[in-house]
Amino acid sequence: QVAPRYLSGDKPALREFLDKFDVFLFDCDGVLWSGDHLFPGTVETLELLRKNGVSRNAMSVQQKLTNGLGKQVVFVTNNSTKSRADYRKKLEGLGIPSTVEEIFSSSYSASIYISRILQLPENKRKVYVIGETGIEQELQSENVQFIGGTDPAYRRDITPEDYKKIAAGDESLLDPEVGVVLVGLDFHFNYLKMALAYHYVKRGAVFLATNIDSTLPNSGTLFPGAGSMSAPLIMMLNQEPVALGKPSQAMMDSVEGKFKFDRSRTCMVGDRVNTDIRFGLEGKLGGTLGVLTGVSSKEEFLTGDVRPHAYLDKLSDLLGSE
Ligand code: PLP
Ligand code: CA
Repeated sequence: QVAPRYLSGDKPALREFLDKFDVFLFDCDGVLWSGDHLFPGTVETLELLRKNGVSRNAMSVQQKLTNGLGKQVVFVTNNSTKSRADYRKKLEGLGIPSTVEEIFSSSYSASIYISRILQLPENKRKVYVIGETGIEQELQSENVQFIGGTDPAYRRDITPEDYKKIAAGDESLLDPEVGVVLVGLDFHFNYLKMALAYHYVKRGAVFLATNIDSTLPNSGTLFPGAGSMSAPLIMMLNQEPVALGKPSQAMMDSVEGKFKFDRSRTCMVGDRVNTDIRFGLEGKLGGTLGVLTGVSSKEEFLTGDVRPHAYLDKLSDLLGSE
């Protein structure tokens, strides 16, 4: 494996790199912002990349800054707790204009996988959800029926009656129409939810996860991620879920379904090697760009098993190309 190229502060290298691509897929948290903190220069960097598609060589510096480089920008996030509409609002609030079409979340990727790829029998089309409203909204937009999720009926302790009902296959707790268990990050994860997910899969439901990030950064440290919700189920079932977020190529296929891009002219930008960079490498994209403002360290970029083609200290170092 070759060492990734360090681009920060190297104007000719930055230019050469940017000129190789027409499409940039952006991971969000750790690249554009951290939690609610927008990194300085994010808005300007996206403005430089985007906008009117005029050939770069034909533009003056001033024209580039006002017209942009004409790249297609796409936002690809593993955060399943929000829907694409939630993300559009979040981006807008941070000063980044976008359309829902430019946003791909693991909640959306999972929803279209269920509605368009999985061939479920007519009487097994309901989804049992472990997760938040992002998943519920995306399932709704694909007309997929679901139970669980944020329903308060599941946010409680398991009772002696529950055990008996589950053992007896009582339909008030185990809906016979459930054919899929979808696991994302759930801030009210509990024993009852785990037990139901286990029994649905045991009864033949397809085991899916929005994403398998073990952790997620918040307030300068790490907290349990969606992968930590499916981990106990994997242990109970001795079975891995099909995960639909990055690095799953189901996510890449859903982006490609909307933007018929040339993979060799597309670059994935991310902070995490095992999700973002792997996503780009397995998708045979022309480039992957790591940034050091998130989870993975310089050490990982330089010597890990999965390495980006190039890396920056921070995204806004791309402004140094001008
Ligand atoms: N999952 C959750 C619940 C999150 O809150 C986040 C970050 O905000 C992520 C995953 C990672 O998101 P991204 O893929 O944008 O880094
Ligand atoms: Ca990230």
